[in-house]
Amino acid sequence: MNNDRIGARLRSALGHAFGGHTVIPGEAGYDDARRVWNGTVDKHPALVAFCRNSSEVSAAVLAAREVGVPLSVRGGGHQVAGLSVCDNGLTIDLSAICEVSVDGGVSHAGGGSLLRHVDTANARAGVVVPAGVVSHTGLGGLALGGGFGWTFRNFGLTCDNIVGAEVVTADGSVVQAGEHHDADLLWALRGGGGNFGVVTRFDLGNHPLRDVLFGQAVFAIDDLARGVEHYVETMNTVPDAMSSICITRLAPPIPGLPPEIVGRPVVMIDAVWSGDLEAGEAPMRWLVGAGGPLTSRVTRMPYTAVQTMQDDLHPHGRGNYNKSRYLTTVDETAIKALSEAGNSVPGPHSQIEILRLGGAAGRVERNATAFAHRDAAYILNIVGAWTDNTRRDAHVAWVRDTYQAFDPVGSDAGYINFLDAEPDRAHSVYPEPTYSRLREIKRRLDPDSVFRGNVPVTV
Ligand SMILES: Cc1cc2nc3c(=O)[nH]c(=O)nc-3n(C[C@H](O)[C@H](O)[C@H](O)COP(=O)(O)OP(=O)(O)OC[C@H]3O[C@@H](n4cnc5c(N)ncnc54)[C@H](O)[C@@H]3O)c2cc1C
Repeated sequence: MNNDRIGARLRSALGHAFGGHTVIPGEAGYDDARRVWNGTVDKHPALVAFCRNSSEVSAAVLAAREVGVPLSVRGGGHQVAGLSVCDNGLTIDLSAICEVSVDGGVSHAGGGSLLRHVDTANARAGVVVPAGVVSHTGLGGLALGGGFGWTFRNFGLTCDNIVGAEVVTADGSVVQAGEHHDADLLWALRGGGGNFGVVTRFDLGNHPLRDVLFGQAVFAIDDLARGVEHYVETMNTVPDAMSSICITRLAPPIPGLPPEIVGRPVVMIDAVWSGDLEAGEAPMRWLVGAGGPLTSRVTRMPYTAVQTMQDDLHPHGRGNYNKSRYLTTVDETAIKALSEAGNSVPGPHSQIEILRLGGAAGRVERNATAFAHRDAAYILNIVGAWTDNTRRDAHVAWVRDTYQAFDPVGSDAGYINFLDAEPDRAHSVYPEPTYSRLREIKRRLDPDSVFRGNVPVTV
């Protein structure tokens, strides 16, 4: 059956009861509706259903099942392989379900919220929910896979803060998951990806916070070893209030950076202190000031400002290819690999990120959530990003070579939100007994595998 016919059948299966907007191939808005963050993704759903509430999501799930076509679920559209859209099937677009309200210690966020919706509503109440560092990322995919950002060492991963959810399951039911009702589903939502249903509302524990300290240091590539060693040593001992990232890339224009360095390979350390601000001054100044950086700064700013400061570095529409894995250590071998990759970065938008894990996120019991890799020391994320498609192969090769160069200190396991489409890594992402428990829940709630998370759990 061709896409037009599938689209017409889906529309008829949705029926008049579905009040939301739908779009099929050839109609105005179709190309916008199928576009995701990664500009190389070019998928053609037969119908995109813009759902406004859980009943419409339920109708869309049932329509896809009735017609017998694939279903995909789109939150913010940032998953790098474009898994939120599907070919020849029905894409549920949740962008209209983005209302956020704060009720004491719990923030309620629509399943299609972007991080900026959550941060803005929380800021009015002087609270935060830990999340990612780019405000146009979707809460849905991020929270269901984990959620690392500027406060995870202090307040846990985003998924650790899911205390309840409204979920549309594969048979179209609308269920509530929480500690006292379907705690198994709640457990699965804390890291199990989009495998169990469409989350139309997240209930998220929040934390009082308004201002943070932001710190940044930039090291010349020739000083990479010194900068990275300093990062590793310092992050081994700092309080949980500090979360940070070490990025190797071509230098963007940064306040205080000599102009001749812009466009040359550098190592940047970015950090945020989300505890008592006075107590944070000294450790932040040590992290970004010691070790001989070219430039460094520590600035107090509202949390919402730090949450948006990277937005323009990662705009929609570029080509992107990522590979990611956990690292057991960052030693001499890793530093050598980083140095070689840093000296051969193929373009101004590609970068290698290393995050020191641990803190509150590391102290959660391994089996307490579907996110199992609590003892991993670091995440490595290699990001290839380009605007000129003729350079695609060079970026992809650089990402793959760099990934391999970390073999001696790298695990096969990775963080699902930084993976491409890599179903073969399911068992390392979800080690036993996590995978078996996810499978049991999958068998109960989605025996026909209607939902396919970025890393699919098979029944
Ligand atoms: C620029 C950029 C910055 C990022 N920064 C961070 C970061 O700081 N920290 C971090 O941890 N990750 C980060 N990521 C990775 C990010 O967590 C993943 O890309 C995640 O999938 C994004 O969620 P989304 O809703 O935008 O994804 P989508 O592409 O919309 O969805 C991905 C998958 O999630 C599932 N899904 C989404 N919403 C729902 C829902 N409501 N109910 C059920 N299933 C759903 C579906 O299975 C879907 O296929 C970043 C990614 C990008 C591109």
